[in-house]
Amino acid sequence: MTKKTDVSRKKAVDSPKCGLCGKAKNLTKTECCGQWICDDEDKYVIFSYARNSCHRNHGRYTLCAYHFNEEHPGSWKDCPECRNSFETEMFVWYGTNEYNFEKLENPPAYEPTRCSSCNEIIVLGEDAYSQKGNEYFCEKCFS
Ligand SMILES: [Zn+2]
Ligand SMILES: [Zn+2]
Ligand SMILES: [Zn+2]
Ligand SMILES: [Zn+2]
Repeated sequence: MTKKTDVSRKKAVDSPKCGLCGKAKNLTKTECCGQWICDDEDKYVIFSYARNSCHRNHGRYTLCAYHFNEEHPGSWKDCPECRNSFETEMFVWYGTNEYNFEKLENPPAYEPTRCSSCNEIIVLGEDAYSQKGNEYFCEKCFS
């Protein structure tokens, strides 16, 4: 009968925690997917581009939130409208970055983006870059 005690113990461990960083204070639920997340939008400094707010990161940098805000039907994981809204690299990044509670299971393959000047790989979701038409320039080459 040890199983019964396990169940009651599990309940205590299941107190809400932010699904992204694990903090248990100041939580709210995401509108898009109903997951516990830090209610920390006020920590963000306008125009700082800092990525220190769990709530903001999930709301800005995930397909989950985009899909919800655009009112697409069904699940974001197999949504053709989301797929068509971004170039493949950004689609994959939005679906697999650390701001997701659940990640895209079979992300499509893509060719890495390279700097048109020095040919170095630019990670669109993480690196600073400048874009002119179809051309991308890495931080070194545009600054
Ligand atoms: Zn958090
Ligand atoms: Zn969500
Ligand atoms: Zn969608
Ligand atoms: Zn370059």
